[in-house]
Amino acid sequence: MKRHIQTQITKDLGIEHPIIQGGMMWVSQPELVAAISNAGGLGILTALTFETPEGLATAIKQTRELTSKPFGVNLTLLPTLAPKNYDGFVDVIVSEGIGIVETAGRNPVQFIEKLKGADIKVIHKCTSVRFAKKAESIGCDYVSIDGCECAGHPGEEDITSLILIPRAVDELSIPVIASGGFADGRGLIAALALGAGAINMGTRFVATVESPVHQNVKDWLVRAGEGDTTYVMRSLRNTERVLKNSIAEKVVALEAKGAGIEELAPLVSGKNGLKVLSTGDIEAGLCTAGLCVGLVNDIPTVAELIERIVSDAREILDTRFSD
Ligand code: NAD
Repeated sequence: MKRHIQTQITKDLGIEHPIIQGGMMWVSQPELVAAISNAGGLGILTALTFETPEGLATAIKQTRELTSKPFGVNLTLLPTLAPKNYDGFVDVIVSEGIGIVETAGRNPVQFIEKLKGADIKVIHKCTSVRFAKKAESIGCDYVSIDGCECAGHPGEEDITSLILIPRAVDELSIPVIASGGFADGRGLIAALALGAGAINMGTRFVATVESPVHQNVKDWLVRAGEGDTTYVMRSLRNTERVLKNSIAEKVVALEAKGAGIEELAPLVSGKNGLKVLSTGDIEAGLCTAGLCVGLVNDIPTVAELIERIVSDAREILDTRFSD
């Protein structure tokens, strides 16, 4: 009989497998999000991908046409080059009846009352035990703890998932989601062994058939190894892990000379990142990826990927620890 890997988190969120897709700027679009939810994971739209709250509302409706399973919305609270209408996005999340929100970056204290008042489950993604405890204290339901292996913003303390996950589990009463470095069934079992109730994956989902990025980017992820990422913006205390390319090299060189955000902005701008993803010109801007890019060797459908992760995890449980 097939072993069903269930945890408190899968039961609470109404999902079949303990696999959550982390919000990814530009990538977490309705087709990918719905494919992940339909395959038994939790797909998450990313609010800031849409220029306006109305754009997010349209994407939520499109996702609902593609899946009847639960999905969430990510709201990232980090410095931006252009102001974002966060209040408008939160209003849409509430009025559209979204049940699960992933916040990331700064803690979501300014929105927590509105979100909890609408009975929304809040997952806060953060990069240290200190931030995780703060999230718990303001009423978040789950913490997604991001080891420095992660794509995007790993924080400034460089603590790996192997340490950060059990430290968060030890310090928190709310369930913990393991984020940063997860891409396969081995990682899923490791995360559960460390005390997490689910894994959060980003990079692995970018290299899938349903991912909306250009084929060149998917091929880049397949080609890249675990040594092919670098940090940028550390000097601004807004570190981002990106794939090595000429733009990343330029940013690092400028930072070494003391450049500030004004000088770096034309290089690090998300608009250039979008160009990479949509045109496939991999030198057009920064492209974020986690260290787990070393474990990404193919471009399966989302359903194939999730099925493989779950069956590999089951096989580990069934065979690796028996006599
Ligand atoms: P953007 O073009 O506004 O900014 C580009 C980069 O510069 C971002 O990493 C941003 O954090 C950083 N930045 C901007 N102003 C800064 C400042 N004053 N000091 C230090 N760093 C600064 O970013 P975007 O691509 O339009 O993305 C919008 C927001 O979403 C940003 O905060 C970005 O970091 C965040 N983001 C979210 C995800 C996600 O997966 N949810 C992924 C990537 C980026």
